[in-house]
Amino acid sequence: MRIHENYICHHQKGEIVKSDEFTRRTKEKTKELEFETQVLRRTLTKVNASIQVQTKRMHITGRNQISSDEVILGRSLLTDEAILGRSQTSDELKSSDKMYKMRVRLSGGHFRMINEKLYTCTGEEALDYFQGEPSLFNLYHAGYKTQMSSWPEQPVNVIIKWLKKQSPSFVVADFGCGEALIAKSVKNKVFSLDLVSNDPNVIACDMAKSPLVSSSIDVAVFCLSLMGTNYESYLEESYRVLKPGGYLLIAEVKSRFDPNTGGADPEKFSNAISDLGFKSVKQDFSNKMFILFYFTKKEKQISKKKEIEWPMLKPCLYKRR
Ligand code: SAH
Repeated sequence: MRIHENYICHHQKGEIVKSDEFTRRTKEKTKELEFETQVLRRTLTKVNASIQVQTKRMHITGRNQISSDEVILGRSLLTDEAILGRSQTSDELKSSDKMYKMRVRLSGGHFRMINEKLYTCTGEEALDYFQGEPSLFNLYHAGYKTQMSSWPEQPVNVIIKWLKKQSPSFVVADFGCGEALIAKSVKNKVFSLDLVSNDPNVIACDMAKSPLVSSSIDVAVFCLSLMGTNYESYLEESYRVLKPGGYLLIAEVKSRFDPNTGGADPEKFSNAISDLGFKSVKQDFSNKMFILFYFTKKEKQISKKKEIEWPMLKPCLYKRR
């Protein structure tokens, strides 16, 4: 249950609105997003057609070094010179540069749209969204990588460093693993979970309902993945699968916890997790872009669970650059 019954924080604008008004705005937003999804589907068809053209070009020139990120971002390593068999005129150069910039802007817009969708729907809805169009997941992660490249430190690397100092026998669950960087970097057994699996080692599911066995995990990780409006159900799931004494690590974007801009109070967030049955071990605010919370699952189960007041976590919306 949320803190406010009749009033809900509409964090995007930082104002407090009644829940029926919030519902109305959410419905309106959903309609807008559905429309944008249709547009995006049409664009994807065009992108796929363009990939086919690029592939044909590669056959002609014998080059095969085009990366999937570049395809997604609309960039090709192939120069037009290689295709034209002559150097480009200055007009052609200007126009291809414009096209490139336009494509990058378009993919940035799509990234922001998918990102907003993931922060404003439940995990179940997000699963439906990606299952309907799995290629949106690649589009999302190409944009995500671009965003993250400007961060001075990647939270996932801080978590990997921490894990390397723990026992290699610890079994890890990476909730919302993205490209499964943790599994690729440590010796531990890692269960990587995400909405879409492009990799046979990633389990595709809504992480509120994972297939993991109860009390089987030593370390549960949420690295920038508490995106759904029902984020508390992901944490409940981590409580179910963790062994007593097991670690829960959460890295989240700092701005989501800035009360001056409608963000949650990190203490309220931490208290809610403690009420779920965890002990707060450490909070690391030293990084510019994210906060790292460390908890352990209490050894003793709480017999009568009290109602937990989960603070609303405002969506992390990226600005157009
Ligand atoms: N942890 C990774 C990726 C972060 S991006 C890293 O730090 O590199 C957030 C990821 O959480 C996305 O891949 C998104 O698909 C995933 N995610 C969001 N909600 C989810 C849900 N309900 N179930 C499974 N994965 C989810």
